[in-house]
Amino acid sequence: MDFTISAELEALRAQIAHFVETDVLPLESDPASYDEHENIRLDLLARTRDKARAQGLWCLQLKPETGGRGVGRVGMAVCYEEMNRSIFGPAVFNSAAPDDGNMMVMEALGTAEQKEWWLKPVVEGRVRSAFAMTEPAPGGGSDPGMMLTTATRDGDDYVVRGRKWFITGAGEAEHFMLLARTSDDERRGHTCFLFHKNDPGWRITRRIPIMGPEEHGGHCELEFDGLRIPARNVVLEEGRGLKVVQTRLGVARLTHCMRWLGLSKRCIEIATEYADRRDGFGIRLSKRESVQMLIGALCADIEIGRLLVMKAAWELDRGGFAQKEVSMAKVHVANLLHRAADTAIQINGARGYSKDTVAEWIYRYARQARLVDGADEVHRMVLSRHLSNEGRNFWHWESAEAKA
Ligand SMILES: Cc1cc2nc3c(=O)[nH]c(=O)nc-3n(C[C@H](O)[C@H](O)[C@H](O)COP(=O)(O)OP(=O)(O)OC[C@H]3O[C@@H](n4cnc5c(N)ncnc54)[C@H](O)[C@@H]3O)c2cc1C
Repeated sequence: MDFTISAELEALRAQIAHFVETDVLPLESDPASYDEHENIRLDLLARTRDKARAQGLWCLQLKPETGGRGVGRVGMAVCYEEMNRSIFGPAVFNSAAPDDGNMMVMEALGTAEQKEWWLKPVVEGRVRSAFAMTEPAPGGGSDPGMMLTTATRDGDDYVVRGRKWFITGAGEAEHFMLLARTSDDERRGHTCFLFHKNDPGWRITRRIPIMGPEEHGGHCELEFDGLRIPARNVVLEEGRGLKVVQTRLGVARLTHCMRWLGLSKRCIEIATEYADRRDGFGIRLSKRESVQMLIGALCADIEIGRLLVMKAAWELDRGGFAQKEVSMAKVHVANLLHRAADTAIQINGARGYSKDTVAEWIYRYARQARLVDGADEVHRMVLSRHLSNEGRNFWHWESAEAKA
């Protein structure tokens, strides 16, 4: 097994790390850098993006012919972790959710025409995108089979009716992906569509207030009462919506994990920076075994997360689905992030509860990690199903000869 990375990838990682250190981290500590939803101000983001792009640090998750750096999923694992040392990092490099997942799935599955009108402006950073799948009860959430939004064929168009909610970025997005039901077929009953925010027949009913800081455009509730979508805006083909979702979510879940590892490492920085200079009861905090146990446990959990993510990334790069690996990584890293932020706050005492560090920002943000893109329980259910099907073969090393 070879855990080395190429000299080119290491150079890219170092370049990102330097940019984050010099151009992004200083913004975080200035309250004037934030918008009213606790994210980076859009004008400041635009300026910082221009600078990153001029250095080639842009959309590296995409292939060169799409406007990216073609580093593959393993390369992304290395670089995303560096980007999210700062809470502002991923947006600066156009590698933030949901745009990055939307771009990757459209790069993989879009027609030439769809790539030109829908994907290209997102890649160029001119517009933002959103992915609308989840519905309020009794509609589809964890179980997409419960989806109630319908798209009914009418001539060359489909007519959409229904509701979606928690659609990240919808308040700012111009380009949307939408999942709707086109038949009652369990496996082939969903279809994925593209539409533009100016298309009539839908509206945002509210921006949902949440406990944490918000992505640009927030998390919105949408209502569709006759949106017409031409058949040419179907992704893949009618009835293949779950295939689009599977293609999108496999890698999108993993990119969340890559970013969250960066945030978890940042929490360790925040914890140790204080512990290394704070004295109490006659000794330095960092010299206390109880503090060392907390930090040591986090170090190991971060490395476990990195190995899970790397294995899944490697599997995706060689054409596999990595369903098991992605589920394991998602559960582990989401819980790790929560624990890392909690530990950073605890070690910093009252300072940890303040806004003098970003630990409290990460803590509030981290709670969503155990819900988005599949709640912990759903991923564990998936793992248990794999075990039922594979038995003791659930854990195995594939021999190179068998793969060939
Ligand atoms: C911040 C944020 C951003 C989001 N962004 C988007 C977005 O951009 N687009 C989009 O389409 N959706 C988005 N979502 C929705 C997200 O994907 C769903 O919340 C998630 O899939 C769970 O669905 P649900 O909320 O309907 O939970 P439900 O399906 O109602 O489940 C509720 C709870 O029940 C438990 N549960 C569910 N199934 C099982 C099971 N099989 N076994 C055991 N327990 C179970 C879990 O604890 C789960 O949390 C976002 C959510 C959040 C919080």
